Amino acid sequence: MQSAGRGFAGGAVKKPPIDPSCTDFDLVLVGGPNCAALTKFIQQNERAANLKIAMISNQGVWVQPQAYFGILHQHIKELKMETGTMSAMIDTWSKIEQTKVSKLNAASNTMELANGKSITYKALVLGTGFDHSCEFVDGLSAFDEGPESNNVYVHQLDKKERLNRNFYNGWNHAGGDYINYSPATPYKGEGTDFYSLYYESILRQDKLLAGAAAGARVQHWTPNKFIYAFPYANEVALEECAKRGVEVMFGWELMSVREDAASKVAVFKNVDSGETIEKDFVGASINPPSRQHQFLLDAGVCDADGQVDVNRYTLQHKKYENIFAIGDCISGETTRTYTGAISQNPIVKHNVLSFLEGKETNAIYDGYQYMPAYFGTHYGAGFSHMHDFEPCSTNDSVPHYGIFSNLYFNYMMGNQQKMGEKYTSFNKTQGPPHYHYPARFDALEHNEYLEKRQIAIEDVVHPNAAAKLIASAE
Ligand SMILES: Cc1cc2nc3c(=O)[nH]c(=O)nc-3n(C[C@H](O)[C@H](O)[C@H](O)COP(=O)(O)OP(=O)(O)OC[C@H]3O[C@@H](n4cnc5c(N)ncnc54)[C@H](O)[C@@H]3O)c2cc1C
Repeated sequence: MQSAGRGFAGGAVKKPPIDPSCTDFDLVLVGGPNCAALTKFIQQNERAANLKIAMISNQGVWVQPQAYFGILHQHIKELKMETGTMSAMIDTWSKIEQTKVSKLNAASNTMELANGKSITYKALVLGTGFDHSCEFVDGLSAFDEGPESNNVYVHQLDKKERLNRNFYNGWNHAGGDYINYSPATPYKGEGTDFYSLYYESILRQDKLLAGAAAGARVQHWTPNKFIYAFPYANEVALEECAKRGVEVMFGWELMSVREDAASKVAVFKNVDSGETIEKDFVGASINPPSRQHQFLLDAGVCDADGQVDVNRYTLQHKKYENIFAIGDCISGETTRTYTGAISQNPIVKHNVLSFLEGKETNAIYDGYQYMPAYFGTHYGAGFSHMHDFEPCSTNDSVPHYGIFSNLYFNYMMGNQQKMGEKYTSFNKTQGPPHYHYPARFDALEHNEYLEKRQIAIEDVVHPNAAAKLIASAE
């Protein structure tokens, strides 16, 4: 339930709660933690003071993606598991609908909700991520619902109970093959679910202590032809795998898993030849496939790859000028991470408010994405890139072994968790990057990112806005 905040003496005049029967909004946001945080930050911005806003999600609280893996093996305290609740983040003068959007009609700016309501909007932000489920691999949910002693772990951020069940992921391996599986791109967890080297470091120690057989192996299976889509990171990861005996199996899609009398069996299909093979295994860590939500495919807002078809610089829809997207659901060749979505947040905030004010959408997303690389239980590195997989200045900036790698690992765990905590806390702030004050953006013709890369303004401006500019000049 949405509750009114406390009014402290001397504070600003509290805005009255929104009329519960309101169904016509200026701004509607549909999605998860990124949209809830965005609603909170928009509420703090004086440009939004008179807007009627609604936030719609079928969940009221989320598992912090950046803390997930760290919590599994107690690098991060379990207490840090969840985001703030949506109702505590968002003040009552905006509407919260905790339900699903069942139908979107982008041409008429309307949508239908699973609770039977129909609503309208002037601008819409989509941050619905992926439909990500172990149901998409036959037999996987039976393992998932079974005891953790079955040694098959599903990496899904749907519920906090999973964090306890997945405690032994990658630990409990004394012999045979351990599968670490990443699904076809685009998917939830791209660039952050490569745990094979972490698992190998545990296995290596177990072998030294005679706790695991000499022939026990970690294998990385994926239908993709890479570990990371970012070529730099991919090369580093492949070299590490070759050095450390992690077998990499590209081009194999996981179709089903089952347990026979003698062993567990995974059925893989070769993505090129269509051939299927049966592979015995002892343990597995599986990131299940991701699909686009059907209501977005039906709405015609997606590109040929099934992603919300936005301009990658402004995050504004290429056709529907009043639709913006954030997070995993955006189109384009990139690595989809939560840290990347945090960087997109001020861009979408500024551009959607500018659109509502009839101004130029001049905030430019540089494509920043960050991938924590877990090379061992206590050492790691970080990869980061911008659009076109252009490496950032901080990309892979520490050695992969030794004291500096260990220091970086601890820094990375703490920094990522704190970034997520600050982003979705109860504190009412202006949001990233400055939190105390809103980000300001240069006019497009002075934007350094565009200038340096010689990106034409026509590649950034929405066709409708460009047409309006031409008409006003004539
Ligand atoms: C195992 C794993 C580990 C990861 N680790 C990291 C990490 O260390 N660092 C990192 O940066 N990223 C990590 N990620 C990636 C991160 O989880 C995603 O990038 C991030 O969650 C994307 O945020 P989002 O808001 O786009 O989508 P989501 O977080 O998936 O949220 C989408 C929300 O939209 C809601 N929704 C969907 N459809 C509807 C509808 N029709 N109506 C209403 N609501 C709807 C859903 O309920 C959901 O709450 C990890 C992912 C996985 C799977």
